[in-house]
Order: sequence, then C-alpha cells, then structure tokens
Amino acid sequence: MCSVNDDGYEDGEQFMPKTEIAVTEAAICKKCANNKGNVILRGKDVYCKVCFLASSTHKFRATLGKSKIVRPTDSILIAHSGKAGSTALLHLIKAGMHESVHKRLIFKTTVLHIDEGAVNGETLEERKSRINAICEQTQNLEFQGYITSLDQSISESEPNIHTMESLEICSHGDKMLTDLLNTLSNYTTKQELLHKLRQRLFVLVAKKLGCNKVFVGDNATDLAIRILSNISVGRGAHLPFDVGFIDNRCPDIMILRPMRDFTRKELVYYLNFNNLQIIHSPELTTKKDQYVSIQKLTEKFVTDLDLNFCGTVSTVLRTGDKLYTEVGNNSDNPCILCNMPLDTTVFDTEISAIQATMFSRFVSLQGPQRKYNTNDVSKIKINEQNEENRRKNDNCCSCNDTGCCSSNKSVKLSYKDVEKYLCYGCRLIFQDANSLNMLPPFMVNAVRDKMCLENMRQEISEFLL
Ligand SMILES: [Zn+2]
Ligand SMILES: [Zn+2]
Repeated sequence: MCSVNDDGYEDGEQFMPKTEIAVTEAAICKKCANNKGNVILRGKDVYCKVCFLASSTHKFRATLGKSKIVRPTDSILIAHSGKAGSTALLHLIKAGMHESVHKRLIFKTTVLHIDEGAVNGETLEERKSRINAICEQTQNLEFQGYITSLDQSISESEPNIHTMESLEICSHGDKMLTDLLNTLSNYTTKQELLHKLRQRLFVLVAKKLGCNKVFVGDNATDLAIRILSNISVGRGAHLPFDVGFIDNRCPDIMILRPMRDFTRKELVYYLNFNNLQIIHSPELTTKKDQYVSIQKLTEKFVTDLDLNFCGTVSTVLRTGDKLYTEVGNNSDNPCILCNMPLDTTVFDTEISAIQATMFSRFVSLQGPQRKYNTNDVSKIKINEQNEENRRKNDNCCSCNDTGCCSSNKSVKLSYKDVEKYLCYGCRLIFQDANSLNMLPPFMVNAVRDKMCLENMRQEISEFLL
C-alpha cells in the first residue's frame, strides 16, 4: 500500500515533532547562567526563580506600556474572579505601585468581584466563604473592593454593588438568572450568555464607580481557547475585540487584558513563588464531560495539544492577533447584547453565512421531496420582507392620531423584532427562544427604545414629504 499521502509526504513526516521535556535537575538558568533552574518553560527554557519573576514583571509592564493607553489619571476597575490571572494581576499592580518613582504605577484602582454562585451550583455557605476569601485577599493587597452578583446584569436598572467589608450576598435575583439560563437548550449558549452578561456588568459597574477602564485577568491560554471557540460559535467577526489587548466596543469604558501574554503554566509558577492562593469556585460546566459545550471541548483540545507541542497557545494567539474584520468599523448600530457592530447586514450582491443558514432552515422545513434552485433564495428574502412589513403594521397599536407610540411600552414586540438588533453570534444564543419572556428585560427594553426611535424617524420623514 502506498504510504505517501495527498501532500506528498510520508506518513507522519509533515507533523510537528513532539516537544521533548528537558530534565530540570542540575539545569542552569539560561538568563543569568548562574543559578540553578526552578522553572521550565516551552519545554526547553530553564529559568531560576529570580529571573522568572523579573521577566514576569517586565512582561506585564511591557504589555501595559506598549499600547500607551493606560495613563496616570485613569481610574481602573480590576475584575477579580479569584482565579490565577486576576490574582497575579492584583499582585503585579500592587508591586508596581511600590516601584521607584519613575517606574511607579500611579493610576487609581478599584477591585470588583462578581458573584456567580447562583448559576454555578454553590450553596449560600459556599458563596459566603468564597466572598470572604476574596475580600481577605483584596484587603491584604490593600485594594478597595466591591461585590456584585451576575443577575444585576440582566435588570434594566443600575446595578447594586456592595463594599467587600459588608460581605453581603445579593441573592434576590438568583431565580431570574437561573430561569433565564434554563430557557437555553445547551451549555454552549449558556456559557456564551454568561460571558456576555459578565462583560456588560463590568461596564455598568465601571460607569457607576466612575472608572474609565476595566482590567480583566484573561491569560494567553484562555484567549487561545476563545479564538477557536469564538470562530466555532459564529463570532469570528468580533475576534479583535474579544481577544485583543484593547476591547473598545464601549466608547467610554475600555476593557483591557494586561495578562494576555502569560500562559496558565507561567501563572501557576508566579503564584507559587509569591505564596498566593487561587480561590477555587465551580464553573457552569465543572463536573460535566468534555463534550458538554464547544468551549469545554476546545479547552481540552488546546490544553492537550499544548502539553505535547509547547508552541500551540502562542501560535493560535499570534495568528488570532493578525485577524482583522471590517465589521469593527461600523459602530452606528451595535448589538443590544454584546454591543458589537451588527455583522448581520447583508447586501443583495453578497452571499453570506446567514443566507446559507436561512436557506438550510427553509429547505429543512419544506421536507425531503421538494427540489430547489437558486430562485428559492430570493423567495426567502421576499418572505422575510413581507414578514417585516407585516410586523411594521402590527407594531403600532393604531395610535397615530393619539400619539401613544411616544410611550415605548406601547410598542408591540415579537422575538423577530429583537433578533433584528442582535449580531449573528447573539442570535444563536437565543435561537430556541419563542417568547419575549425568555429574554433578559434590558434587551426587550432596548429594542422598544430603538423601535420607538425608528417609528418617530419614519413619521418625521413622512411628514416632511
Ligand atoms: Zn537566573
Ligand atoms: Zn451580539
């Protein structure tokens, strides 16, 4: 049997060789060439503790410095989950504040912990003990801290926040949040929604506390996983915002990722050398098998591969950094959930993934007997247009004379109306939704506002004609 495959290589020849892990015992630090090695990175580079910690600090400062975006006058909200990334982040900032004058970090900092215990299956006691540990850690590092709970992200009003000293647990909105998650049919969309709600809450709390930037602890491994899983869940168009150092989708509050050059392994070494503890808490898919969600399966794929091929994380991350999409420049009409420019606007001449999905759905609903041709695509468009016109006529409660559309509560909505204001990835989260009750209240209200505005614009333009 021929052993040459399609690419002209012998079997196995084209694959990258596995990284051979060097033996650390008696190995000497490659940086100072003097001390005995304590750390081995990339399977071959040996460092002593002193050189490793010095290079970690340098890497953090370089990530912050090269963008020139963080200024001494900034007020920064640091999102602290208790995991390795944000714990190391707090420690690095604290150390930076005690550097010599010309190197000192002098921006104002506030720490925020979001309590997600309600969705992660923690008991009230477990939540209390986690918050207690977070509070202790934050106080030991001399930061001012606040706590809020994830359900604050779905309500229409300003989020409730408490100082860490109060050790208060807000459990009033737990049911609303768990009910919302229970309406979603799979863990991929549940994880997506939680991520978007978390991002939204960072911005809401930053606004409330007068902060103009948010630091999150996303590390290189997390981001490599997110690059691949985002593409799988239809968010490829938003990659530069979701994984880059700067996420400036909200014009007044920037989210920054200063830990993006640290791998999980480097963070573990950093925390160990500084006697810092990770505060463990379960996640939504903890104790679930690897196939439960696209994100969890991607995590296993990336971490397993990186175990044998040490360049995996950095290769994926650097490749992701080079990706750029035009959609990022159109910010007039952002998605009401993730605040990204809508990637669902399709021009007549373009063939898009959305059209392909619509056609696939159309074909599936028609049954196996029918034959199709390209004209069917235009039928779908016409059907959509008719549906749109019908909704426009239905939306107003025959109130043109009385002007009751000025109150946004009077606008009748269907899920299809909401979908119009969602990007492709966010549409997929709610693809099984068939009622407005299955959506977060802030989204429904945002759509009412937008539709009201559109109705008013249309009325004005008709009046002027
Ligand atoms: Zn050394
Ligand atoms: Zn979106």
